[in-house]
Amino acid sequence: MSELAFAGVVELARRVRAREVSAREVTDAFLARIDEHDGAIGSYLVVDHDGARARADQLDLEVAAGKDPGPLAGVPIGVKDVIVTEGLTTTAGSRILDGWVPPYDATAVARLRAAGAVILGKLNCDEFAMGSSNERSAWKPCTNPWDTSRVPGGSSGGSAAAVAAGLAAATLGTDTGGSIRQPAAFCGVVGLKPTYGRVSRWGAIAFASSLDQIGPMARSVGDAARVLEVIAGVDRRDSTSIDQPAPQLEPSLAAGVSGLRVGLPKEFFEGAALDGEVAAAVRAAADALAAAGATLKDVSLPHTKYALPAYYVVAPAEAASNLARYDGVRYGHRAPARELGDMYAQSRAQGFGPEVKRRIMIGTYALRAGYYDAYYKKAQQVRALIKRDFDQALEEVDVLLAPVAPTPAFGLGEKATPIDMYLADVFTLSCNLAGIPGLALPVGNASSGLPIGAQLLGRALDEATLVRAGAVIEAAFGTRRPPGPWGAP
Ligand code: GLN
Repeated sequence: MSELAFAGVVELARRVRAREVSAREVTDAFLARIDEHDGAIGSYLVVDHDGARARADQLDLEVAAGKDPGPLAGVPIGVKDVIVTEGLTTTAGSRILDGWVPPYDATAVARLRAAGAVILGKLNCDEFAMGSSNERSAWKPCTNPWDTSRVPGGSSGGSAAAVAAGLAAATLGTDTGGSIRQPAAFCGVVGLKPTYGRVSRWGAIAFASSLDQIGPMARSVGDAARVLEVIAGVDRRDSTSIDQPAPQLEPSLAAGVSGLRVGLPKEFFEGAALDGEVAAAVRAAADALAAAGATLKDVSLPHTKYALPAYYVVAPAEAASNLARYDGVRYGHRAPARELGDMYAQSRAQGFGPEVKRRIMIGTYALRAGYYDAYYKKAQQVRALIKRDFDQALEEVDVLLAPVAPTPAFGLGEKATPIDMYLADVFTLSCNLAGIPGLALPVGNASSGLPIGAQLLGRALDEATLVRAGAVIEAAFGTRRPPGPWGAP
């Protein structure tokens, strides 16, 4: 059973297509593991036992009839709860959407299904994807499969924990300021934040629309690449989706890094915030790239220190605007018309948790007449400088290598103030502000045993180079499997 759970996306699809195993056997193996282990982890908010089994049976009939269900044939996948799924409750981790059953699939989910995937259920996350630890979920905590006294990271904590614990072969997350890469690093899995516009945001519940991006989380670089190939590509329902075909990433997995220029941005390695073991592990990954033929170069991204203040103005401003639609009337709640006035006032107060309210207030303040120039406009100017830093650095080098987070996974309850929590994002935010792709992957373990992640950052639309370099790092450091009953062979 655990053999199937850790086999990975590419291998499971191969076996199902070759009729070595049925989609139903694979799905049942994952459902049984979820039933056994997720009580201790808390990665799922909804498990669709019946829907998953019915879909698996249907795929097995297709295979038996000689049809090829596609590149994700029979692969069980979990979906972050901020991504809508037809017929499957979707709450964005928030009480304000309690009980909402969307009438349609997000484009990314529709593409997964069309490629033969089996959707297992919806994954825990911080409310409206605002957070870095999954502790802001309105529903329940999610723990780190490596140490259940630690957070899995966030906001896509459930998506990372489920992959790490073998409770999904792959998952979808979203990354607005690090929410795919940071939980991937904390849980020892791979997370790929695509170029802004690479994957349609249709059906991704909006947090900050100019930053949000859906992407895959999986056990290996090859698995994440396979899922991205399926979900990427232009979608006329998202006007910001880029008019490019989905990338073909498989050839990049074996391309090697001979002659590749890898930049080490000095601002990411400076300062007391960076844990010594994290710094050493990322430098070891750089050495592995050099040993495989890459050249290393120190580069500078001088405006890095302004990414955090700029992000925490831009993201709340967009959130304040996006979240104005949740009046407690249209989604989730049903009430006679005469009660709607009261409900409006009440449910906005009761429906949003404290972090969401804080963001709405900060965002509304930043957009106010009289403050707009000082905050929002200034933040957008800083954003342009950050993007220019990346453009210039990525002329000198082909890809950048940096830490994902200053430390390995922190303890549940450890970050006492909002500012402490925001500081956990220092290294992930600039990637979203610049709109470029980022790939997080494991590069070792701390003395505590917790996994350490590194991120590769590349040019817009150049996920292929991230996969190239990521595959070489993975060959040197391997994939990870946590201790505990869910990780045991
Ligand atoms: N941690 C960041 C925030 O709280 C990023 C979240 C995300 O990427 N969705 O806004």
